[in-house]
Amino acid sequence: MSEKSLDVVVVGAGATGIAAALAFAREGYATALVGEVRAARDGRTVALLDGSVSFLEALGVWDALAPEAAPLETMRLVDATDNLFRAPNVDFKAHEIDLDAFGWNVENATLVERLAEAVGEAPGLTHFPVSADGLGAVQEVFAPGEGEPDEAEEGAERAVRLADGSSLLASLIVAADGRGSKLREAAGIRTRSWTYPQKALTTILAHERDHRDVSSEFHTRHGPFTLVPLPGRRSSLVWVTAPEKAEALAALDDDALARAVERQARSLLGAMRIDGPRGVVPMTGMSVQRYTADRLALVGETAHVFPPIGAQGLNLGLRDVASLRDAAVSANTDPGSRAALRAYERSRALDVRTRTLGVDMLNRTLLAGILPADFLRGAGLHALSAVGPLRRMLMREGVTPTIGTPQLMRRREPRAVAF
Ligand SMILES: Cc1cc2nc3c(=O)[nH]c(=O)nc-3n(C[C@H](O)[C@H](O)[C@H](O)COP(=O)(O)OP(=O)(O)OC[C@H]3O[C@@H](n4cnc5c(N)ncnc54)[C@H](O)[C@@H]3O)c2cc1C
Repeated sequence: MSEKSLDVVVVGAGATGIAAALAFAREGYATALVGEVRAARDGRTVALLDGSVSFLEALGVWDALAPEAAPLETMRLVDATDNLFRAPNVDFKAHEIDLDAFGWNVENATLVERLAEAVGEAPGLTHFPVSADGLGAVQEVFAPGEGEPDEAEEGAERAVRLADGSSLLASLIVAADGRGSKLREAAGIRTRSWTYPQKALTTILAHERDHRDVSSEFHTRHGPFTLVPLPGRRSSLVWVTAPEKAEALAALDDDALARAVERQARSLLGAMRIDGPRGVVPMTGMSVQRYTADRLALVGETAHVFPPIGAQGLNLGLRDVASLRDAAVSANTDPGSRAALRAYERSRALDVRTRTLGVDMLNRTLLAGILPADFLRGAGLHALSAVGPLRRMLMREGVTPTIGTPQLMRRREPRAVAF
């Protein structure tokens, strides 16, 4: 069995895994990316928030992606419930917080393809398009007992076993192998999963009127119905509703489904046509008991699964990667040292927990349909619509949080919106 020794091995060639491999190779670490690139066109789009775009710029990927992404200049919340305390529409405008756009919406498959194109050009990065089978034990390179505990641990390595029988040894293994992660299981990290009594219907639509870079989220009693701009007169749809309704909608022919979407959108964008594959996604969540183990760090959906509302999943996945890169770089020569992994664990725990709670509360207040929850939601939206400073504070914290923004997610210069 052959063994190759590296600084960093990333397992999983989805968006977070490829971004991690590029980020570590960019710092001069000898890096391997393990896994086949499969960019299925399933109609899923991702709204990349400002920090994620800065990160993709730093990785040298954004210029190739920008023409295929649409800016989100306004985010409109519409209360479409039967709430007694019905709130006015709230418009969040990016220019109120001095941004050209909150983020940019792009097909997930396009993002993965552009990231994968950069892999071949990155010095110090080798791609192994095979699956990983599991983890080996930590191997000390220096004799234990030399110096302080952290110093004695310096130089240790851990192996990743590949399906072709070979192994890769690395100081740091990054598990980006998704929600069913074999590496997470091999490291004995426990997970907690939950489901919501909803499903999300997803597709892409072409429409008669311009979206004018406005993303519209209608809050219905069964969940949010969201239309997010794509380049041209196209938008992506995430329609969260009761499971039986999502299945019934998915079974309609294209014309009937387009009419149902137009009705639910109150003809905001005029007549519609289905212009992409459709999917039905269960509404589930997952969190992990910890983000690290010996010489191992979890990123992306390996570490947290969000239901597809609030544009959190991939943005947090990229934030994991940028935070891990900061922790590794500050640990200097040993990217997988205990100090680096402790710093990473600290940086993720609160961030992920707060956002998990935020998405969960938004969804559950809609579903609850009880007066106190309706009152609080209605009053909250009223306050946001009337009080500029409050609205701006919420926008800033949501898009460009002040605390703990990783280095590569900080904006260097204004980003132009191309028309
Ligand atoms: C409908 C929908 C809308 C969404 N909208 C948004 C949004 O607007 N904004 C946002 O931020 N997020 C959004 N998300 C979430 C986002 O799509 C996910 O968070 C993101 O795609 C997860 O990427 P990942 O790289 O972590 O995981 P994955 O894409 O699951 O990648 C894991 C990779 O690991 C590979 N792999 C698995 N096992 C192995 C193995 N043993 N060896 C090697 N490779 C392996 C897989 O083949 C895959 O390539 C949305 C999700 C859905 C479903």
